[in-house]
Amino acid sequence: MQSLYVHIPFCASICGYCDFCAMPAPERLHSEYVDLVLRELELRAKEGFANFETAYLGGGSPSVLSAENLRKLLAGLQKQGLRKNALKEFSMEWNPEQVSEEKIDIALEFGINRFSLGIQSLNDNLLKMLGRKHTAKNALEAFEKLNSAFGTGNCDLMFCLPNQSTENFLSDVRTLASLGAKHISFYGLTLEKGKKLPPQPEDLYPEMYLKAVQILSEAKLDRYEVSNFALAGHESKHNMVYWKRGSYLGAGPSAHSYLRGIRSYVEGKYVPWKKWVMGGCPQSGLTEDIPSIEGKEMEAVWLSLRTREGLSLKDYEREFGKEFELKKAKPFIEKKWLELNKDHIRLNGEGWLWLDKIFLYSLP
Ligand code: SF4
Repeated sequence: MQSLYVHIPFCASICGYCDFCAMPAPERLHSEYVDLVLRELELRAKEGFANFETAYLGGGSPSVLSAENLRKLLAGLQKQGLRKNALKEFSMEWNPEQVSEEKIDIALEFGINRFSLGIQSLNDNLLKMLGRKHTAKNALEAFEKLNSAFGTGNCDLMFCLPNQSTENFLSDVRTLASLGAKHISFYGLTLEKGKKLPPQPEDLYPEMYLKAVQILSEAKLDRYEVSNFALAGHESKHNMVYWKRGSYLGAGPSAHSYLRGIRSYVEGKYVPWKKWVMGGCPQSGLTEDIPSIEGKEMEAVWLSLRTREGLSLKDYEREFGKEFELKKAKPFIEKKWLELNKDHIRLNGEGWLWLDKIFLYSLP
């Protein structure tokens, strides 16, 4: 087992666009939760904590935990065998308004060595419209503190927001690149039905995406995945495990695990998960997605094409016992949306915008 993901399902309030497993909750529940998630891990991490190469505290908002609860969680993980010296990467997500010197010191003490900061935008009106609790000033101050404490980490931005101009988004990208961000990820907002936000600008996605890629490439932040950009050596090792279909254990409500090629999770949110943990985390309480061969093939192609390396045709043949049907990809190679380079097929040029289309019409 390569990686550990620990979900913290609490947020101070719920943002208008949120589609994650997140809930506001009183602090007394936080303490109960830390006990429960540690209990889950004690029962499930049978192959041992010493085997984890990367770990990630995500949410929700891990930084909403008080200093006391954060310490309890990290000390509990350490007690169960998570050794900071053995981890190649240990990341924690932060919301700008929840960053404090005290929590940073605790995180450093227990081996967290990378941050991921949810900035989303550096425009106060847009932040307010999204329901975020921080301002651009908070975000920049938080970035300074985290960057100087951990030395490496990610800044999350969003684009295609209601009332956002292209220039507005590009100015956020420029600002973070000029401040020395070593890793930036940006995602176009996808509004699920029922979310009460103004309509999004139409057709700005390609322009915003391509211009932002250009700015980052000039700043030497290379695209190593559709939405992720990093200086050489600052790519997220943990996220690469997901894209390379490595194995990971996910703990907490809604967290997925991928072990021995099978994805599993506890159906439902906090309450069913809590009952499952209190009942001793029986294997029978997990919902398992056992993929068909075709499903595995699609997943392999989809995830590989998201990355800079692309799909290795040799690896594909080794895993699936047949050659990859290049003729299906040919129209996109001719269009220069895909490139074939020796053993690899990968996205190219505007193809980075249209992975869905390429995948749907031609692969695998
Ligand atoms: S901080 Fe993130 S997880 Fe929490 S409500 Fe906002 S979008 Fe959802």
